[in-house]
Amino acid sequence: MAAFFDTPIEYLKGVGPQRAAMLQKELQIFTFGDLIQHYPFRYEDRTRFYTIAETDEAMPHVQIKGRLTQFRTEGSGHKKRLVGAFTDGTGTMELVWFQGMQWVLDKIKPGVDYIVFGKPARYGRSFSIAHPEIEPITGRNEDARFLQPVYSISEKLRSRYVDSKQIFRLQQELLTHASAHIRENLPDSLLKKYRLMAKTDAMRQIHIPDSHEQLAEAQRRLKFEELFFVQLQLLRMKVVRHEKFKGLVLSDTSMLTDFYKNHLPFTLTDAQKRVIREIYQDLKSGIQMNRLLQGDVGSGKTIVAFICLLQAISSGAQTALMAPTEILAQQHYQNLKRHAEKMQLPIALLTGSTKKAERKVIHQYLRDGTLKILIGTHALLEEEVQFKSLGLAIIDEQHRFGVGQRSRLWQKNARVYPHVLVMTATPIPRTLAMTLYGDLDISVIDELPKGRKPIKTLHRYDSHRLQVNGFLRQQIEAGRQVYVVYPLIEESSKLDLKHLMDGYESISRAFPDVAISIVHGKMKPEAKDFEMARFKKGETKIMVATTVIEVGVDVPNASVMVIENAERFGLSQLHQLRGRVGRGAEQSYCILMTGFKLGADSRERMDTMVRTNNGFEIAETDLKLRGPGDLMGTQQSGLLDLHIADLVKDQQILQAAREEATIVLSSDPELRLPEHSMLRTQMQTRKGSKVSWSQIS
Ligand code: ADP
Ligand code: MG
Repeated sequence: MAAFFDTPIEYLKGVGPQRAAMLQKELQIFTFGDLIQHYPFRYEDRTRFYTIAETDEAMPHVQIKGRLTQFRTEGSGHKKRLVGAFTDGTGTMELVWFQGMQWVLDKIKPGVDYIVFGKPARYGRSFSIAHPEIEPITGRNEDARFLQPVYSISEKLRSRYVDSKQIFRLQQELLTHASAHIRENLPDSLLKKYRLMAKTDAMRQIHIPDSHEQLAEAQRRLKFEELFFVQLQLLRMKVVRHEKFKGLVLSDTSMLTDFYKNHLPFTLTDAQKRVIREIYQDLKSGIQMNRLLQGDVGSGKTIVAFICLLQAISSGAQTALMAPTEILAQQHYQNLKRHAEKMQLPIALLTGSTKKAERKVIHQYLRDGTLKILIGTHALLEEEVQFKSLGLAIIDEQHRFGVGQRSRLWQKNARVYPHVLVMTATPIPRTLAMTLYGDLDISVIDELPKGRKPIKTLHRYDSHRLQVNGFLRQQIEAGRQVYVVYPLIEESSKLDLKHLMDGYESISRAFPDVAISIVHGKMKPEAKDFEMARFKKGETKIMVATTVIEVGVDVPNASVMVIENAERFGLSQLHQLRGRVGRGAEQSYCILMTGFKLGADSRERMDTMVRTNNGFEIAETDLKLRGPGDLMGTQQSGLLDLHIADLVKDQQILQAAREEATIVLSSDPELRLPEHSMLRTQMQTRKGSKVSWSQIS
């Protein structure tokens, strides 16, 4: 089977070397297998003909039989258009062309019967179709009732006259040969249990559907298959890891007891306690931990991280914590240092701006084992950073690191991989987590520390600025501090910087007697730190900043946040920003400023923020609005190359696929049973699966 589908695409009849090169470049179609998996992204319904009288502008498209009665041209210059009158006895409509008019006049003749297809639009009292598909009625097309697949095509291909129809013809050609080579790749038991269509039928129906019903079944089958194999692979990785990767046994708790008794600054929440227990079980198990710790902003992940570090150190290991930015790394360092000093534990900070002499000392103490806690940015990953015995590595804000970086941390202990804890404050919907982090164990802090007042979120238009400023003044006079956040997006950073500076000036004018700080990404780290420190100490009352403050900054007295141009932020980013307030005992506020005119999506984002503080609810909405692609960010790996399944819409199928993959692997982890042989074959030929599967064979 593999051999046939590995055939280079240029050998398909109708392709040839030149087209092959284009298909490769534009659509990443290299082989027969790639082509057949280039599924249509929608279908045009040509299962019936409509009459002009029935036509309604709400229809996505209509197919009508009728006669072209006459042509006329209207307008002039670039407004010139060709209009054909088209009638079917129930009414008259217009067919309109803005381009290619001569070609139409040559080909389409008044007095002839045609089938037209296109999107109807209302034009005064009658309907029109712009640039319809049009062909003369023949016995064949008059009787043909079908769903026309539509394939994605790049502009470049279109300009070279390769359109969706042409891809369809290639698929038809391929299918005539391919059918004999398609093998079932799901076990009988699954096909029966879920009444799934056979693979060969599904591959045909997805490209050449016989009916809506058959198409739906083909889609369900292929989605299930796709998600099932992703889950099988992820779960298999987990099994392999559990079997093969020993971890240090970190079970000594004496330091923990000391810390709990003498230094814990507050009572842990039940959720924090539960999560610590889960991690403790992993650390003492002798199996390498790979755990994701999810907790909404402000849920108290830092102390959990410290307690885990302590557990490892207590058992004689060294520890590291890696953060995505310099600011965050410093913040962690400041926070953890307070705890570490109480426990007399050596701790150091290593970032890109650490001086050379200091670096040398750190390297030395890491190698001889004196240094117990190293906090830093990705500078931690550098070659010279060698530990004597790294036992636990914590990665904060995972979504900013790639999978590759995660595994580079593993290499920091040559004998035994360190335990790895990934912390993220971006709640990930369950189904997505199942796939994105399907190979990790997951812990969730689903509770905020007691006594927090929920943040009040308001949406205000720019025209309300005076009132908003009045409110800010009130808050500042009551002793609070305020963040004012501006968007800063890399590509347009010059313009954004200007907005920020303009904003700073107008705030300075509105609050001439108030000390104001400003922080943005283009500043030198020292200058940034200086301003941050002033704000933290309460010397300045307003902090004008870009999203550099998005993560980690902790100033409990700052209880008001104004987000300018809030419509330019994504939902999870807004939520993340909002998490910077609400950390103290006072009532906190988040004010979203936008213009009056807002798109539907922007409005839904604002409404969601105003409605809820729940990170998971926000993540679900975000996923719905943006699709999973953006959420994955750097996470995206070959593994998640989904051709047909949609992580948002197909959650139920995903759930079932996950369950079934779990069942299969629990009875047959090596896929050695005869009834699973096709699964094994499939896994071995999957792209990007080489690493994990070579480890077991
Ligand atoms: P995040 O999960 O966003 O990293 P932090 O660890 O920064 O949250 O905690 C937010 C704030 O809550 C910090 O000021 C921290 O000291 C405090 N905090 C954490 N856990 C508790 C708790 N159990 N009780 C009271 N305050 C807590
Ligand atoms: Mg944090």
